[in-house]
Amino acid sequence: MNQAQKKRVIIAGGGTAGWIAAAAMAKQLAGTVDITLIESDQISTIGVGEATIPPMRTFHKLLGINEQDFMRATSSTFKLGISFENWGNIDQKYIHSFGVTGKSSYLAEFVHFWLHGKQQGHDAEYGDYCIELQAAKMGRFATSDKSKINFAYHLEASRYASFLREFSEARQVKRVEGKIVQVNQATNGSGFITGLQLDSGALIEGDLFIDCSGFRGLLIEQTLNTGYEDWSHWLPCDSALAVQTASVSPAPPYTRAIAHDSGWQWRIPLQHRVGNGIVYCSKYLSDDAARLRLLDNIEGQTLTEPLQIKFRTGKRRKHWNKNCIALGLASGFVEPLESTSIHLVMMGIIRLMKLFPYEGINPVLVEEYNRETSEELEKIRDFIILHYKVTQREDSAFWRYCKNMEVPDSLKHRIELFKRNAYTYQEPNELFRVDSWTQVMLGQGLIPDSYHHIVKTMSDNELNQFLNSMRTGMKSVAESLPMHQDFIERYCKASN
Ligand SMILES: Cc1cc2nc3c(=O)[nH]c(=O)nc-3n(C[C@H](O)[C@H](O)[C@H](O)COP(=O)(O)OP(=O)(O)OC[C@H]3O[C@@H](n4cnc5c(N)ncnc54)[C@H](O)[C@@H]3O)c2cc1C
Repeated sequence: MNQAQKKRVIIAGGGTAGWIAAAAMAKQLAGTVDITLIESDQISTIGVGEATIPPMRTFHKLLGINEQDFMRATSSTFKLGISFENWGNIDQKYIHSFGVTGKSSYLAEFVHFWLHGKQQGHDAEYGDYCIELQAAKMGRFATSDKSKINFAYHLEASRYASFLREFSEARQVKRVEGKIVQVNQATNGSGFITGLQLDSGALIEGDLFIDCSGFRGLLIEQTLNTGYEDWSHWLPCDSALAVQTASVSPAPPYTRAIAHDSGWQWRIPLQHRVGNGIVYCSKYLSDDAARLRLLDNIEGQTLTEPLQIKFRTGKRRKHWNKNCIALGLASGFVEPLESTSIHLVMMGIIRLMKLFPYEGINPVLVEEYNRETSEELEKIRDFIILHYKVTQREDSAFWRYCKNMEVPDSLKHRIELFKRNAYTYQEPNELFRVDSWTQVMLGQGLIPDSYHHIVKTMSDNELNQFLNSMRTGMKSVAESLPMHQDFIERYCKASN
């Protein structure tokens, strides 16, 4: 392919989203596109986004990224799940782990066996049948080529962007430093973007533009006026404050999400420090009060001043509009509760590469991209709303609102189905598996009224044998793992 035939892709923004897009295209579309990324040192990146989910490992495999190199460069730790504290009720906690819980039969998921066991006097918790969850509780972790343990990472956001920048620049991505001051559009009435004017006077022209400019949505919104679907009636938190602290104890292999009376607080252990933040609804908690609460609930010396972030949950009406695709915060924001944003960037760029408009922008490609992206996001949205809706908390106006709010019909249906018969499902193009839905519904305190009768055909002996041997086996696997901190020291210790 000669230079003139190559599509010119311009990425506006060099945060996590911009560099993920650049790295993926540089590797996968090599030789067929010319990639330029524009970023401005005058406009900082958001600087948060440190907890991830397991599909990131598949993305890294696609790019040929070596896990140990990546972990050393980004000071990462391992993540087996999220510990939700004070969500179902104050002083209650559960872990949403990345593992598979128990063993299912063709007709009935494991939760049916567990519920039957409970009725027969078994006292084990649902999570006792999941290796990842047991290991998380014990602070243990190991991985190897043979290991089936499912995990993700906690990473340093700015180092991750730098790591991907190096990766991308080594593969012919051109980086341009400069502030975009004007977005030029075609004068033929199509409204397509033709070029980005920088403060230096340079004009960067292209065929396809990827908006990774953060919440501002410089291209997708400020230029193309795409519109925003507001989800704040379902996800009312609209503010966050983030602060970094020194580590004072060995890193646990999980994120903590600790609910408070007007939102929640995160704790993300990295190798060299801890990322902390409070997410809250400004209608119920002032910024000053949130700041005090955050600083009251951290361990270790603070290393940064708290950084204030304001957001509105929702999504762009179109993720691909004309010749512009929005990724990252420019495309919308659900909530960082289940660490899904970086994943959505990765899914977005993979989807774009599959539908890449080599022959020009065709409405059918655009429609499909938007359809798949919206569907994916709406299912994630429902899963996040579940954490707020299914609660026994009534101790504050915020929780009373969440408990009593109307939820999307799609979620209402799932909640009723589980309550009635312990049934849940994973739809095509859906991120969260049956295991996740079940762990969170039970963890939030939603106990089914009934379960599949097929499990009642097991004799007491068979049921005891089935549950006890599995529980003991999983516990002993978890116990055999090294401590997470020790494993990191051996496997991927960062130099600072
Ligand atoms: C409170 C909070 C917690 C989060 N936690 C998580 C998490 O745990 N896990 C997760 O997956 N995600 C999380 N996220 C989301 C995650 O931070 C983002 O998805 C990710 O960082 C991508 O951001 P971005 O690259 O879209 O935007 P940004 O980081 O804001 O980057 C924008 C880029 O655009 C550039 N830019 C903007 N305007 C111009 C201009 N005029 N000219 C030139 N360049 C410009 C900037 O210089 C910058 O490089 C969280 C988000 C928030 C708000």
